[in-house]
Amino acid sequence: MDKVLRIDMGAAGGPKATLEPVGEYAGLGGRGLTSFIVAKEVDPLCHPLSAANKLVIAPGLLTGSSASPSGRLSVGCKSPLTGGIKESNAGGQAAQALARLGYLAVIIEGQPAGDDLWKITIDAKGVGFSVDNSLRMLGNYDTVEKLRKVHGDKVAYMTIGQAGELKLGAASIACTDRELRPTRHCGRGGVGAVMGSKKVKAIIVDEAGTTLRGPRDPVKFKAAVKTFNEGLQKHAVTGQGLPAFGTNVLTNVLNEAGAYPTFNFRQGRFEGASKISGEAQAELETSRGGLATHACHRGCIIQCSGIFNDADGKYVTKQPEYETVWSHGGNCGIADLDVIAKLDRMDDDFGVDTIELGVAIGVAMEAGVIPFGDAAGALRLLGEVGAGTPLGRVLGSGAGVTGKVFGVERVPVVKNQAMPAYDPRGVQGIGVTYATSTQGADHTAGYAIATNILKVGGFVDPLQTEGQVELSRNLQIATAAVDSTGMCLFIAFAVLDQPETFQALVDLLNAFYGLSLTGDDVAALGKKILSTERAFNARAGFTAADDRLPRFFEQEKLAPHEVTFKVTGEALDQLFNW
Ligand code: SF4
Repeated sequence: MDKVLRIDMGAAGGPKATLEPVGEYAGLGGRGLTSFIVAKEVDPLCHPLSAANKLVIAPGLLTGSSASPSGRLSVGCKSPLTGGIKESNAGGQAAQALARLGYLAVIIEGQPAGDDLWKITIDAKGVGFSVDNSLRMLGNYDTVEKLRKVHGDKVAYMTIGQAGELKLGAASIACTDRELRPTRHCGRGGVGAVMGSKKVKAIIVDEAGTTLRGPRDPVKFKAAVKTFNEGLQKHAVTGQGLPAFGTNVLTNVLNEAGAYPTFNFRQGRFEGASKISGEAQAELETSRGGLATHACHRGCIIQCSGIFNDADGKYVTKQPEYETVWSHGGNCGIADLDVIAKLDRMDDDFGVDTIELGVAIGVAMEAGVIPFGDAAGALRLLGEVGAGTPLGRVLGSGAGVTGKVFGVERVPVVKNQAMPAYDPRGVQGIGVTYATSTQGADHTAGYAIATNILKVGGFVDPLQTEGQVELSRNLQIATAAVDSTGMCLFIAFAVLDQPETFQALVDLLNAFYGLSLTGDDVAALGKKILSTERAFNARAGFTAADDRLPRFFEQEKLAPHEVTFKVTGEALDQLFNW
């Protein structure tokens, strides 16, 4: 990759594209690149929906190569949800196409005058812009269907749904998968609202005429690919659990551990968990002619994704992820996979983060808007988001806003971003990550579940405070680096457990770029990214008070372990002292 594409949506006479050399951004990719560009070019005090914010899109360092699974796409900006720096990444096909076209990053800045909706096409010939107001307030599915008639089936689409156009805080950016379904989302932090604020409805990426990106040292690269793939295939999580049951394999595990947030984080076990578990989901999917094993992008050998059909064998949505099954399921007291699949389809269609919306509906249930367990009510509430009603805009603005509007005290957010599917009282290490992450409450920022619950990379007792800050620190550093490679974070299970698989990852980078990085260099990159993000947030006004969980986690005991979150503020403040 050798160029940066800068698109000024507010240029006089209409959107304008310019190419820039990589310059100081050489050697960066994915999250590292989006965060460095945002930190350098975006005023931390700007309004996230203003012309001053920028949407930075970046494939990873290994994206577009033959390394698996390296097709993640990072999107960065100042977040409309948290007010801090944001990086949100997704699978799908767009990252590989952009990488093969030679783009290190695409920076979308400015804002067009007027109300027209724009399409951006990127292919081997260059960049094009066109107005298409016929797409206005269409969901992602209808949008892609219309676009396919014009641009065909051999391209990757990045689109926003109604939520992005309405600039809601939970709005996502959808990336199409191999079957051209808009199911892989940069979901967290409202990145879709920033795309909507730039009046960009769709980005169409056509890789025709390109080939795989080639490594500097093909022999060493091929050997590293082989070792890396063998490592993924022999590990129990990446080789067996995820391919067979998807991420939802975690429902029974977390429920058993007593850390499955139920009824808006009121208890740690859900009676209906077995009905919505990964095992039940895989059986249902295969019995209906769907798929329990599927790759969200070309070349992924873990294949944790799937296809969920209805009782008539008709496609509904991709296999809902663990976090989605939890947010719309156990968190809301709904033990029905068909309802959860419908909600997942609606989330993808409207273009909203499934975690944020499930938690927002849980908060609305806490407020008594509808009772816990009311499946029809949940479908109705989510439908309001797509319709853009005032209530839908409240919910689509996230759990924090929903809590404020309905006067709810128990709102599980950090930096205004909803907590995912692990109760921080039952897994203290993930509580440290939620509290301190630069991204707001985000399990992927430092997945302490691996070591606290799955005993990957050692074991730290999930119910005790000892070792949790160190665990989260190390995971956050490693994650920031992995998020820069374009590798799916699920490789971390094998990389943490198997030294030779970690070494193979370093070897992949070295062979591809002709470098001689060590594990320490990779850790140094992770620290640099985190420090850059922390500095941006500090300039945006964040203080130590923002690195805390809502008070009720320290006050209310979580059944069945009857435990509170016990890591002190003083300890949390040590996380970034390295
Ligand atoms: S492991 Fe799953 S989420 Fe990751 S790239 Fe593969 S299919 Fe996509």
